Amino acid sequence: MEMKYVPTTCPYCGTGCGFNLVVKDGKVVDTAPWHRAPVNQGKTCAKGNYAAEFVNSPDRLTTPLIKKDGTFVEASWDEAYALIVSKFKAYKPEEMACLASARVSNEENYLLQKFARAVLKTPHVDHCARLCHASTVAGLAAVFGSGAMTNSIEDISEAKCIFVIGSNTFEQHPLIGRRIMMARLNGVKVIVADPRFTPTAKQADLYLPFFSGTDVALLNGLMQHIIKNGWEDKEFIAKRTKDFDKLKEVVMKDTYSLENVAKVTGLPAADIATAAEWIAKAESSALLYSMGITQHTVGVDNVKSTANLQMITGNLGKRGAGVCALRGQNNVQGACDMGCLPNVYSGYQQVANSDLHKKMTEAWGCDIAEGKVGYTVTKMINVLADEPGTLKCMYVMGENPMISDPDLHHVEKGLKNLEFMVVQDIFLTETAELADVVLPGSCYAERDGTQTNTERRVQLWRKAQDAPGQAKPDWQIICELGAAMGYEKQFAFKSPEEIFNEVAKVTPSYGGMTYARLGAEGLHWPCPTAEHPGTPVLHKEKFGTPDGLGILTPIEWKQPAEVPDAEYPLLLTTGRCMWHWHTGTMTRRSESLEREEPTGWVEMNPEDAKALGIKDKEMIRAISRRGEINIGARVTKDIKKGVVFMPFHFKECAANILTNNALDPIASIPEYKACSVRIEKIPEV
Ligand code: SF4
Repeated sequence: MEMKYVPTTCPYCGTGCGFNLVVKDGKVVDTAPWHRAPVNQGKTCAKGNYAAEFVNSPDRLTTPLIKKDGTFVEASWDEAYALIVSKFKAYKPEEMACLASARVSNEENYLLQKFARAVLKTPHVDHCARLCHASTVAGLAAVFGSGAMTNSIEDISEAKCIFVIGSNTFEQHPLIGRRIMMARLNGVKVIVADPRFTPTAKQADLYLPFFSGTDVALLNGLMQHIIKNGWEDKEFIAKRTKDFDKLKEVVMKDTYSLENVAKVTGLPAADIATAAEWIAKAESSALLYSMGITQHTVGVDNVKSTANLQMITGNLGKRGAGVCALRGQNNVQGACDMGCLPNVYSGYQQVANSDLHKKMTEAWGCDIAEGKVGYTVTKMINVLADEPGTLKCMYVMGENPMISDPDLHHVEKGLKNLEFMVVQDIFLTETAELADVVLPGSCYAERDGTQTNTERRVQLWRKAQDAPGQAKPDWQIICELGAAMGYEKQFAFKSPEEIFNEVAKVTPSYGGMTYARLGAEGLHWPCPTAEHPGTPVLHKEKFGTPDGLGILTPIEWKQPAEVPDAEYPLLLTTGRCMWHWHTGTMTRRSESLEREEPTGWVEMNPEDAKALGIKDKEMIRAISRRGEINIGARVTKDIKKGVVFMPFHFKECAANILTNNALDPIASIPEYKACSVRIEKIPEV
């Protein structure tokens, strides 16, 4: 029996914990602590602990599949490639779109956007960052010049005050939650604003149970109270920012007085005042947020408001402070960095900039898609559903919009309008079932590569076993498809390391990175030169804006696109649970995790449940303007009256049948965190 331990990086959340994969006779059988892992020092959460369980699941895809007469039949790689090439060559560039994946490596994401732009010549490439942190990328880039978490995970434990808004950190980024606890053990005050009394909220010194969708009102109210009391950091505002007067014109309005904000948010005015005082008077205060802030029609406004608060209190450019945008998936940061967004090449180089278009054309050695901004994921689905014949063909790598996207009936209608769809994945997902060709890819344990965590730390994956059957590493599939399309030279890579070297060559923020330099610790971008040590804390001396100043942005509070009314009187907010991951393709195949939460539920306040005559664990019907589902009730005081919550992982009671695909006008992110529903008892038959 041969045993070995392969250190690698977790495939679930954006924390980027390291652990060892235990390999027995060439097969991954377990995980074990990697005590020197830089982010987590050997500790993991339950998902990380069981991250080996799905790897050799019996229903892994092991061979290409081609749909014939509505049924998938096994095919050779040559047959699959020949069919794909014949179809891809038959469409005009504008008729094709690609979805990259926050699940795969940087190298694979880089290749997919290169394939879209250099081979298919289409500008339409995006990925699921559109659904989670597109507001962060747009919002923080606009005010700081860089759309990423400003500080490192490690320095959260050095904060003197921590304000968590719209993040259930303890369940969704548990090893970042550990940093909050480390700070708290040092006497640091923790404030949590959330409509649910989450495990994170339960650890807070001050809990602010505000209504979902009232973030800007709350943040403006905090700022007004700080400014009224003269607690703002006048020196930082004067030296490092601009437009304070414009900000004041809005936040000092009577609309944002403590009393008025208390009415809008449902919070006691005294608690808002206390939070403002703690944040402003702390030597350093870190603000942590996640999708509670971003997944709104005002997601960009929310993000900019968090930046406003941190700027007026001088909490940027130093340790223990910052705007800590906690990215969701393991490599969602990397997929954005690699240019899997319709407006940028890798390193956020704008496609519309003619110099950068020329640079990439020369680097790739062929004509590429014209320098115009392509469709976002959400636009792709809307175009497919509502303007049939505009988009005709899609190549989807490692994404599952049939569970993850809002208004699933609309998504299904759109995807069924496609003439040809290729899905590359490790399981036959709900989206893959609609495909014409399915290509078996690899999971994180089956290839080398890199991923970039939420703190911009680029770390190595290391191959622990071969992919099952005829499945191949995703980078190899893209290279083979590129060559089959006639682009051998552009896709002549023999290893992920060779791809990474090209990434570094064309991407300034990764310019100084090599596999050798990444080693066990990884490097934080920007790391522009071979001597550069990486940048754990951004904006120390100046911001990345043209004049180096942070931009304070006046923002008015706006209501969500859909608010409760007589017909749909409850506000639905959705999210993840501790045991499962996104569309459940991996965690629901993990016996230990599935045992903990085998299906979905709707959380409702006892007063709401009583008014409807609903008991705990009763199956109920939840109805929105877009559809209905049957789901078990979980009656709990841990949610605010008038609000209900559902996790979105479960296909048998898919929360996204109900959600609203109303979009933020700048980031095109959907409003998963606020829509209106009605809950009914299921009539007895
Ligand atoms: Fe994996 Fe995130 Fe858990 Fe760390 S905190 S083990 S990265 S799921």
